[in-house]
This record gives sequence, C-alpha cells and structure tokens, in this order.
Amino acid sequence: MISSGADQTDTANRKDYPITPVPFTAVKVTDGFWAPRIETNRKVTIPAIFQKCEETGRIDNFAIAGRLIKGEYKGERYNDTDVYKTVEGASYSLMVHPDPALHRYLDGVIAKIAAAQEPDGYLYTPRTASPGKVQPGTGEERWSELAVSHELYNAGHLYEAAAAHFMATGKRALLDVALKNADLVARTFGERAGKRRGFPGHQEIELALVKLYRLTGKRDYLDLAKYFLDQRGRGLTLRQYPPGNRFAIYNDATQIQAHKPVLEQDEAVGHAVRLTYMAAGMTDIAALTGDEAYFGAVRRLWNNVVGKKMYLTGGIGSRHDRERFGEAYELPNLTGYLETCASIGMALWNQRLFLLTGEAAYLDVMERVMYNGILSGVSLDGTLFFYPNPLESDGKYRFNKGRAGRAPWFGVACCPGNISRFLPSVPGYVYATRDDVLYVNMFVAGEAKIEMAGRAVGITQETRYPWDGTVRLTIDPGRKGRFALHIRVPGWARNRPVPTDLYSYADGAAGGETGVALRVNGRAVALDMDKGFARIRRTWKRGDTVEAVLPMAARRVVAHPAVKDDAGFVAVERGPLVYCAEAPDNGGRALGIVLPEGAGLEAEHRPDKLGGITVLAGQALAAEPAAVSRVRDVEAKDAAADDEEEAPPSSRRALAPGARLEPRRLVLIPYYAWAHRGEGEMSVWLLKSSSIR
Ligand SMILES: [Zn+2]
Repeated sequence: MISSGADQTDTANRKDYPITPVPFTAVKVTDGFWAPRIETNRKVTIPAIFQKCEETGRIDNFAIAGRLIKGEYKGERYNDTDVYKTVEGASYSLMVHPDPALHRYLDGVIAKIAAAQEPDGYLYTPRTASPGKVQPGTGEERWSELAVSHELYNAGHLYEAAAAHFMATGKRALLDVALKNADLVARTFGERAGKRRGFPGHQEIELALVKLYRLTGKRDYLDLAKYFLDQRGRGLTLRQYPPGNRFAIYNDATQIQAHKPVLEQDEAVGHAVRLTYMAAGMTDIAALTGDEAYFGAVRRLWNNVVGKKMYLTGGIGSRHDRERFGEAYELPNLTGYLETCASIGMALWNQRLFLLTGEAAYLDVMERVMYNGILSGVSLDGTLFFYPNPLESDGKYRFNKGRAGRAPWFGVACCPGNISRFLPSVPGYVYATRDDVLYVNMFVAGEAKIEMAGRAVGITQETRYPWDGTVRLTIDPGRKGRFALHIRVPGWARNRPVPTDLYSYADGAAGGETGVALRVNGRAVALDMDKGFARIRRTWKRGDTVEAVLPMAARRVVAHPAVKDDAGFVAVERGPLVYCAEAPDNGGRALGIVLPEGAGLEAEHRPDKLGGITVLAGQALAAEPAAVSRVRDVEAKDAAADDEEEAPPSSRRALAPGARLEPRRLVLIPYYAWAHRGEGEMSVWLLKSSSIR
C-alpha cells in the first residue's frame, strides 16, 4: 500500500480476490520453453518496439505535447498506448532482471510523458500537441467524443504502466502522473450534479483503475471503474458519423458493448478485445465489491464465448471487419481474425475468474490461449508479429495487415506492445495461494519462494512440459507443517479439451482421469479431485516430492457440429499444444491433407527445429491441389474487409467428390511455431477420412 495523498482509504476491510497469485517476482522460471521466450522479449522485443515507437513519432508525440520540441502530432489517436504498454512490459522485465540502461531509458521516456501532462492532470497527446487536427475526439472540447477518442483507453494503459514502473523501481514519477490523471477523471465523471456522464468507447481504464485502487486504497478509483461499466447501455446516445465516414463503425452500439447495460449482456458481440477487457474489469468488480449480479453477468458472457465463439487455440473474434465477434459457431479458419490482443485479454479475464472461483476450468482456457493463441503472435526471434492469428493459410491471402506472414510493425500497433507486457508476466500464472492451500496452476520448471499461512514455502518444479507430461515438485515447507497442495489436472488430460461442448476428443479414449498418475515420495496416491485440482493435504517436511504424470498422447479433436467450417475436419493436439500441418514439412502443401481415422501419430522431439519442438509424424493421404476448393460461406457475408484491407476470400474448404488421394508422410508442428519458413499453406484442421467417399 502506498500513500496516495488521498483522504479516504479503507484498508481495514477491503474485499479482494479470495485467491492470491504468487507474484512473478517470486517465481524464477528456468525451463526450456518460456524462459527463452521471456529472455528474447527482454533482449530483443522490448528494445525493438521502443525503437519503432521512436521512429514513428510515438515518443516525440509526448515531447511535442510537452513543448520540449516543436512539431505536430503524428499517427493514430491511441498511439500513446503503445509506449505505455511497452513501459509496462519493460518494468516487469526490470523486476526480475536489473538493466541499468533500460532503467535510464525509461526515466527519459517518463520525463517526456510527464511533460505532456496538462497542469490539471489531463494527458492525451493528440489534443495537447495538435488540438483539432488529428481525428474525431481530439478537438477543442475534452471528453466530447468518448466513443471514438480513446482518451480514457489511453489513460488506462498509462495507469497500468505507472503501477508496473512503481513496483519495479520504487520511483513515483510515472505513478504521480497517473494518479493526477485519475483524480482528474474521478472529478470529471460521475452521477453527481455538475459532473459529466460518459463511458469509454474502448474499455481498459476500468481494470486499470482497479489496479490503482489496490495500490493506493483510494475507493474513488474502484467506484469510478464500476461507474464506467454501469454507464454502458444506459441511454447515453452515441454521436452518429455520416455513412462512409471511417468512424461510422462507432454508430453501432454493439461494436463497443454499449447496446445494453453490462449486467444484461449475455452474448459476446462487437469488438473482441474490448469485450475481454470489459469482462476482466467486471470480474474485478465482482471480486472487489462482492457484487453477485456482476459475477452472474460475467459468467454468462464466458459461457457464450467459451461455448460458442472460441477457436481451438483459445483465440476469439472471427471477423476482420471491425475486429468483431461473429455469430454463434461462426469460426472461419482462413479468414478468422483472432487478434493477439484478444487472446491476451482472454488470459487476463480467465486468470481473474480462477482467482475468484478456484475453478481450474478457467485455467484450462488460459493455458490453451497462452500456449497457442498468444504465443503465435510473436516470432521465435522476437522481432515479428501477428495481429490476426488464423488457423489456416493458403499462402496467398494477406491476412496480417498486408502480409501472409508476421510483420515487424503495424500502423495500429496494439499487439506487439501487448505481447511485450504479457510474456514477462507468465511466471506469475504458475502458482497461487488461498489460506493454507498452494495451487500449482501451470507446469513451468523453476523455483519459487511462496509466503503462505505464516510460512515461507520453497517449491522446485522440474519438467520438460509441454513436451513431456511428467512434473516433479520438491517441497521445502521451511518447518514441518500441514497444508494442502492443489495440482491442476488439465481438462485435456481428463478427456475434456474445453470446459464446454464446443470441442471434444474424437479418438474414443476413456473419460475421467485415466492416465493421470500421482506419487508422493515415490508412492502412488489416489486422485482426490476438486474443481479440477488433485488435492494433497498432509504434513510436509523438507525434501518431500510429488510427481504428477499427465498423458501426452496425440489426440484428435472435433468441433461441435454447428461449427460448419470445421465439419468434416479433425485437429490434433498433444498436451496443451494445438498442432498444425505446414507446407515445408509436407511436400509444399497443407490444405489437401487427409488424416485417416486410426492412423498413428508418433511424437519425436527435434531440438534443432524451430527453437526445439516435438513434432508428430505419421502416414496420411493427400489430394491434388485442384481437388481442394473454397465453398462460398454466405453466413459470413458480413466478414467483408474494412477499407484498409483486401477483401477476404471465402473461408470454407472442401474436397471435390472422387478426388484422387495419394499416401503422404504427414508431419505436424505446434501451431505457435508456424510461419517461420516463408509464406505458404498451413492448416490446423485436417480433412477427415470419413469426409470423403
Ligand atoms: Zn492488438
């Protein structure tokens, strides 16, 4: 808790999440999977993004607004957030890896940010630097076009960056800027007479205000977060832009989830990233105020997303057009959008739902999106990014903002900065505690020192996960004592790839926890399952070991029959990883591959390939390219591209009846590792043998 200079703090009886994550600063990750990605993020990605922010004027915009240099604002009205997100990621990185040069660089950036703040706390560089010249919402009157201006969205990312920088360095420079801004926003907006009514067009400030509340104890911030959520869909009319105007997409209240009060929303619609940030904020409100109605609403939205609108990779948002959710079961593969930021939003939201409920189902979704939908967003070398993350490529359709592969940067550059702050936070998702329960949520080798129930517990995790399913934990309870270890047994190890009926295993393996084994000090113990966790409550002494073995077989997955794009197709998973066929491993083609039922798939670890991966290989069939066609998917007619993109092709794939099939050796790689060997065909979904006659 820090002093906010505020008059009302209520530290005594604050409600919070019942489960506390073990902070990433207490978890040293030393595995061969995440540790190299986190290190690459620190050494390559963060400096590369800052470089792009310099080159594109994103940092100068602050200096111009602060009258440190002369010039006009450059770029989109939300470009400040790319700087804020990367400051946040860099701060997380500093917390576990001191780097004096990066520390000093951040001080310089923060000085420019502080200079751009107006005397009363307002901070929005497009207006301050070049009033009225940038885009709608940047004119003379502040807060006048909130649906499009991103003033409050920008503020949210400022608060998150400030909280991270303060925790990393103990320096208040950016935090003071953030609190001054938050106090202005709190003075400006509210129900009371003389205050302005409104809500942001792009959610983000809500969960960020909750962070400031938890840091300072200032209740105003929590109340303001709830106020902004409660204002949505309550009759405030949105400014209408003329048809054809770039901003006319904001005439539609569903785009920004303002068509109904949030408590009445039971279907995920509109812009996918916004929905996840909104839902994360709503989960915060449910946890920190105990508001049951909020929890009910957020659960309904989750059921809709995970039951009807989520891809196998955990990604969401089907349509390029307006970066939106599609209808229920509208999950096109070639033209799917699955923005990296929406995947990160899914992780943030599902983590919160676990912390509130203790149910592992949310962690199953989180694991799915971490290992697949998020990780694909950045190249192995840390320099190239996906904005959309489709499950299929024909090598021609330039789905990634003009490319059919990853790109070093984007005009709208939300995703790279988001990746840069997500990766360093991964160690913080491994463990959590509640009273005398220690949760093992993710399987990542390393060591942690955990404060719980009046003791410091050391835990060492040894595993080659996700390549191998054996996880060995060594416990050091400090002094001998009784507490519980709850080890997540992933849904995929219990015959449930997702906690809904959207995807299921098609290979007939037995249900239940078959194949999962647990040993304590070498002796087998029965699984005592609760909420998706295997519970072990005992008196622990130094050196006690727990070994969990999760079955790492290649599994065939099918989608719910209502997902027309996946009808007649099968996908392959192994452990938490979704696999795909990519052209370079399969004779230059991937879209005509037919996976016969019962064909064996052998796992082979290839340390030399794509950063070290386990491939799956077997015998399959392949159709000649001419036999694979696209079926016009009329239901997806709304998926037309926006004006910055080429029109997407028809997404649905079909094999011509009577197509000649030839035997072919099949090699599958993890989905996250695709697109490192040139542009070409890739598919997660393979034709099923029963789909041809
Ligand atoms: Zn993005």
